[in-house]
Amino acid sequence: MIQVSLLGATGSIGQSTLDVLARNRDRYQLFAVSGYRRLNELLTICREHQPQFAAVPAPEAAAFRKQLREAGLKTQVLEGEQGLVAIATHPDTQVVVAAIVGAAGLLPTLAAVQSGKRILLANKEALVMSGALFMQAVQEHQATLLPVDSEHNAIFQCLPDHFGSQPLAEQGIEKLLLTASGGPFRGWSAEALVGVTPAQAVAHPNWSMGQKISVDSATLMNKGLELIEACWLFGLQPEKIEVVVHPQSIIHSLVSYKDGSVLAQMGNPDMRTPIAHALAWPERITAGVKPQDLITAGALSFEQPDEEAFPCLKLARQAFKAGGTAPALLNAANEVAVEAFLQKRLGFTQIPELIAEVLHLSQPQPVNDLDILLSEDRRARELAKRSLAHFSKP
Ligand code: NDP
Ligand code: MG
Repeated sequence: MIQVSLLGATGSIGQSTLDVLARNRDRYQLFAVSGYRRLNELLTICREHQPQFAAVPAPEAAAFRKQLREAGLKTQVLEGEQGLVAIATHPDTQVVVAAIVGAAGLLPTLAAVQSGKRILLANKEALVMSGALFMQAVQEHQATLLPVDSEHNAIFQCLPDHFGSQPLAEQGIEKLLLTASGGPFRGWSAEALVGVTPAQAVAHPNWSMGQKISVDSATLMNKGLELIEACWLFGLQPEKIEVVVHPQSIIHSLVSYKDGSVLAQMGNPDMRTPIAHALAWPERITAGVKPQDLITAGALSFEQPDEEAFPCLKLARQAFKAGGTAPALLNAANEVAVEAFLQKRLGFTQIPELIAEVLHLSQPQPVNDLDILLSEDRRARELAKRSLAHFSKP
């Protein structure tokens, strides 16, 4: 039995992972879980899967422990960040699913890498923030890093086997094509975007996801973060990665080879497919997802992203080029901006404005260790919160 630690079990990726695990009980056992605010859901998960450990925020630990005991469950409760790191590095777990949202996932995900685990990476912000540091740790500790993000998982499936042993250019690869749905506001002008509400922004046309990534999809920052994620995962510069808007979300990304072949991975937009692929790779297991029906899918279309109305993509490319702590600053400012937008303290089109201001006011530093990343992340958040005051309320 393969033991799985699921960081962020109560979230959207967490739920999809639990569904795949439940369909493959002969191979996988849920070893440990974590939750943050939705601890009622975590209790239900513990009832159903009876993991050995559950990590929860320290102030909630005593009450959660009591609830588990009253339910007659033996799951042990671990607390706070240390608890997350403990379940990500436990010697009895082989697979760590990194499905916490945002920078909060960095420490446990990196700890899993340093323990040489098989990491199923959904938490793109962790890699965006720590880039070279993360990839060096993967090499050094011989961790197996498998992308769950549907685009990166698609690219991984279309690459030659063992692509990691040589640079991609030497394996005949011309470029990667990263698809984007375009989000709920595809085709809208910058003027029309000014008044959009959080409810409109989180209503994604094709995917059902957590709130933060739904807003990121609407601003195209999700694609910006994914561009940086792809640069690190596949060892390429952004010029080798083209973003293509594909509103139907049937093709999840493509690899273009120098002989003219373009390989695509297709499927219904359901995260259980990339999760199952990364869990079982190089084998295949059932995911509960119906195969794509091409006749029902109908016409597939493609267009260029509108980087004028959606400047976040450009900001992300610039941050990657600036290097050092710049992507971590971008990420921190974005997290503050998205939260403020969801709380109706910042307008939709002010999200990229706030991020640009934070990047403008900060000098990126070289990333020598984790401490500099964590302190720059904190500094960028403070700066973003102070800058918020300059923006008129929507
Ligand atoms: P959700 O918001 O649905 O879930 C986030 C998870 O993280 C929850 O378990 C939440 O706990 C936990 N969490 C939130 N804040 C903290 C914190 N400060 N400390 C510890 N745990 C915390 O997000 P998604 O599942 O949609 O996304 C998770 C990650 O996967 C993100 O990085 C996202 O970009 C990525 N991703 C998601 C996709 C999707 O389809 N959903 C697709 C591709 C990537 P609780 O709920 O208990 O508060
Ligand atoms: Mg994605």
